[in-house]
Amino acid sequence: MVKQQFKAESKRLLDMMINSIYSQREIFLRELISNSSDAIDKIYYKALTDDSLNFDKDSYYIKVAVDKENRILKISDTGIGMTKEELENNLGVIAKSGSLAFKDENELKDGHDIIGQFGVGFYSAFMVADVVTVISKALGNDDAYKWESAGADGYTIVPCEKDSVGTEIVLKIKENTEDESYDEYLEEYRLKAIIKKYSDFIRYPIKMDVTEKRLKEGSENEFEDYCEEQIINSMVPIWRKNKSELTPEDYENFYMEKHYGFDKPIKHIHISVDGAVRYNAILFIPENIPFDYYTKEYEKGLELYSNGVLIMNKCSDLLPDYFSFVKGMVDSEDLSLNISREILQHDKQLKLIAKNIKTKITSQLQSLLKDDRDKYEKFYKSFGRQLKYGVYSDFGSNKEVLQELLMFYSSKEKKLVTLDEYVSRMPEDQKYIYYASGETYERIEKLPQTELVLEKGYEILYFTEDIDEFAVKMLMTYKEKEFKSVSSGDLGIEAEESQNNTDSEENENKDLFDYMKNILSDKVKDVRISKRLKNHPVCLSTDGEVTIEMEKILKTMPG
Ligand code: ADP
Ligand code: MG
Repeated sequence: MVKQQFKAESKRLLDMMINSIYSQREIFLRELISNSSDAIDKIYYKALTDDSLNFDKDSYYIKVAVDKENRILKISDTGIGMTKEELENNLGVIAKSGSLAFKDENELKDGHDIIGQFGVGFYSAFMVADVVTVISKALGNDDAYKWESAGADGYTIVPCEKDSVGTEIVLKIKENTEDESYDEYLEEYRLKAIIKKYSDFIRYPIKMDVTEKRLKEGSENEFEDYCEEQIINSMVPIWRKNKSELTPEDYENFYMEKHYGFDKPIKHIHISVDGAVRYNAILFIPENIPFDYYTKEYEKGLELYSNGVLIMNKCSDLLPDYFSFVKGMVDSEDLSLNISREILQHDKQLKLIAKNIKTKITSQLQSLLKDDRDKYEKFYKSFGRQLKYGVYSDFGSNKEVLQELLMFYSSKEKKLVTLDEYVSRMPEDQKYIYYASGETYERIEKLPQTELVLEKGYEILYFTEDIDEFAVKMLMTYKEKEFKSVSSGDLGIEAEESQNNTDSEENENKDLFDYMKNILSDKVKDVRISKRLKNHPVCLSTDGEVTIEMEKILKTMPG
């Protein structure tokens, strides 16, 4: 028997892949299962177009079987199978994707898409196996063939026996080394978990014999092993279901099952788009700040599926930083079962989806604000900081929408109000949107600088977070009203009163002021008579753009 060499480029690719492309070994199972699913899709498609075939859904499935003692893991399917030539062409040349060729030949119409556009998935099996054997019988053929390879040094193909149409992939799982253990790929519970994690929503049943302890008949405390074939995947993804079929609990369960968080989400967003790019998404806005949210370990991102197959755990390109708290997933048939983040980053479809999602989240937050103020405030207490950060960092494109989502504590209402609410009740003679910064509402309330503004009956927004002032500095105006700190020199109020009066008072007390200026020379720039004080004898004010609070922050910054 002559050993065939992999085509040269395949050999290089294979080495590279085994060693580097995939960071997690466990995904080999996802790849093999997705190939099986593709193969069943193909036979299904043939049956749709060929009257002599009929597709009985029950006889199509994927089976995962373990032989722990012999370190064998088998994945078999009742899909379309491969001829000798196909084994040679599909498994002998890595970069050639059989799925793509099939697509072209049959001019697949929409709705019959086949996962997998890259021809490297199969080879991921070599990450966990020394030897991979593929036994296959193609639809419409009497002979079966066995393809076998121990990695980059080549493969053999020989005739063999196989009763039914389909493919069986046999992996001889690697022996453990000093650094690495491969035993987990022979453990039922682990395989089950991997299938659940990556292939839960494969359309066809993934079966596995599962051994469980159960109470011995007639006994109350004696257990026995009981083996039973189970279907591991749930098959119909919740995101493909009709919104009207789903209850709030369904979404909550999904949130739990996916470990998106330990809290209950404040809101779910279910999106089905059938436009320039087709995708389904389920997004959640959590109630609480995730425990690791402000740590370096926290990674924003959504799970990304290509037609039901998980291809990335945290696709960060799908979310802007200021929505980094959003959890959830996106499934698109228009994305390829891709291998690298780098390629995805430049994917046009992905960019479109990301833009779409950003708009959806924004509008959903807007309607939450409008329809369920309590919930919105709860949300805002957890994540308002992010929105302000968004205004600050992404002002070019999103400031207009994000500013509508901002809330600040109001001197008048004694609660959070929106900028729109503030501006809509401004008296006609009020020129500015006033704000005052401080550590707490109570402390701000006692600031002498607030007196004159409050006396005028104007509302003040209380800023207690360091980002607040930076955010409004970025906005500059809201509905053409400028933001103004109550501690700035010109409040736009004094002008009404006669300047002469102040001047003469200042002249009368010139000696006193000079004396004070002298003593405080390294602390203040000037000492003046103030019109804004009522109950307080003195206050500090600034004459530039930077307020006292901002100065404090700037001083704590390094550099
Ligand atoms: P891709 O799935 O992206 O095409 P793979 O490396 O995963 O790339 O698989 C290569 C090709 O091998 C597939 O396109 C398919 O033609 C063939 N193949 C792999 N596994 C099976 C299977 N279980 N049944 C039928 N054909 C298969
Ligand atoms: Mg594949």
